[in-house]
Amino acid sequence: MKKSELVIVYHRQPMEEAVVDGKTVYRPHSSPNGIVPTLKSFFGEIDRGAWIAWTQVKAKEQSTFEQVVTVSDSVGEYNVSRLPLTPQQVKSFYSVTSKEALWPILHSFPETYDYEPVDWPTYREVNWRFAEAAASQAADDALIWIHDYNLWLVPAYLRKLKPNARIAFFHHTPFPSADVFNVLPWRGEIMESLLHCDLVGFHIPRYAVNFVAAARSLCGVSITEETQTEAGMSPTGMALSEPSVPTRIGHQGRTINIDAFPVGTNADYIEEVVSKPETDRLVAEIQQALHGRRLIVSVGRTDYTKGTREMLETYERLLARRPDLRDKVSLMVTSVSANPHMAVYRKAQREIEALVGRINGRYGNLGWQPIILFTTAIPFEKLIAYYRAADVCWIAPLRDGLNLVAKEFCAARPDGQGVLVLSEFAGAAVELPNAVLTNPYSHRSMDAAIDQALDMGEEEQRARMKRLRASVKHYDIGHWAHHVMQRFDEIKRPAAPLPFAANA
Ligand code: UDP
Repeated sequence: MKKSELVIVYHRQPMEEAVVDGKTVYRPHSSPNGIVPTLKSFFGEIDRGAWIAWTQVKAKEQSTFEQVVTVSDSVGEYNVSRLPLTPQQVKSFYSVTSKEALWPILHSFPETYDYEPVDWPTYREVNWRFAEAAASQAADDALIWIHDYNLWLVPAYLRKLKPNARIAFFHHTPFPSADVFNVLPWRGEIMESLLHCDLVGFHIPRYAVNFVAAARSLCGVSITEETQTEAGMSPTGMALSEPSVPTRIGHQGRTINIDAFPVGTNADYIEEVVSKPETDRLVAEIQQALHGRRLIVSVGRTDYTKGTREMLETYERLLARRPDLRDKVSLMVTSVSANPHMAVYRKAQREIEALVGRINGRYGNLGWQPIILFTTAIPFEKLIAYYRAADVCWIAPLRDGLNLVAKEFCAARPDGQGVLVLSEFAGAAVELPNAVLTNPYSHRSMDAAIDQALDMGEEEQRARMKRLRASVKHYDIGHWAHHVMQRFDEIKRPAAPLPFAANA
């Protein structure tokens, strides 16, 4: 088997599996939206790539499971290694350790963190198997690109198996302050593993600064290079602003490159969808159903980090405070449950449904529901019609690594109208300072933001949207991919000697 120059280790598979005429076939995901098509596009630049993901396979079917398959699609031919995990392993590694212990810490919710049910040996074992699967696909000096916190231990294991590989890691989530990260009893092991990477990436400078602070506190790393935050990224004045970011650190004689660059949206594709006659038809349908009412949209997954409950409570206060808006505005909320089998997400979903029921029951009438709640995912192309039809897009997470929805809304508004209300605690806020920024921890701030959005005149909307769109189009997905490629090229070169001793 020819070994791969680039191995992507990401929990989701890069293709859809379907059975046609009794045979299993693999086909690309139907929508070109999202991170998977972007990651896959890196395979188009090289001779041979491989992707490592996991899939759930019952214990008794494990021995006959075909782990490695070859897929051929628009980016060429590449191997996909599907790590077969038993339902027990998935529950322990993914639902319990990753989602109940690591996720709340990453999002600075230590009160939600649950240490008791964690089975750390299983987390280690699954990470080891990912490392082995990656190593078996990788050429000796391959670039191995690992994604997200559920694979935090893979770099250390890989360094043992492939000492000459170049290892890169990208965090799709926030990285918390050292005070919060250090709550984790496994903090030293996790940090030591990440310091085996050649490149550790984040969306925004704040997360990189937090990571380096935790690495200093736990492992005494030295900062060997620091760079000014680029002007397009609000270096001061906002909740997540950072004027500079460490770009290189040293540890035990090695250099670790640090990168902070936000993933973008596929702005060209969104504009293409917006200009389709089918989208015009959907927008007209939505407008007809609204009967002249104004539309606020709020799109996201069910998660306590997303601030949906706080946003609904703000809407309830709005209807109480401003009777003139009753029957004149509709709020469309999607709260799609990605993990319905987990108690914490079931609770979040129940709270949202109860609140929607309370508000609709109190203010609604035969012809008007103040809130339209969708609990199943809306296909992306249809979502764009909602973005296009909306007066306001309201995104108020308590904490969010980035938030693509905010960017998608702006990309879907070539008409130059519409107001984005955005939490200061979403990573995307540092790129989008022309949104109406809000602090979801403050009733006063949330109330003022939705008032400002609903009362904003057309001229101001256009001025803000022009700048928002310029940023979204500049930091689009192509820009991110190009930036990452450049960083990969840098780590291909032999490492520069450290300007002063490690651990100084
Ligand atoms: N999304 C969708 N249909 C829905 C709700 C969400 O297609 O009903 C998509 C949305 O367009 C976005 C993604 O799901 O691309 C959510 O990404 P985001 O970064 O906002 O949040 P995450 O779920 O990754 O935390």
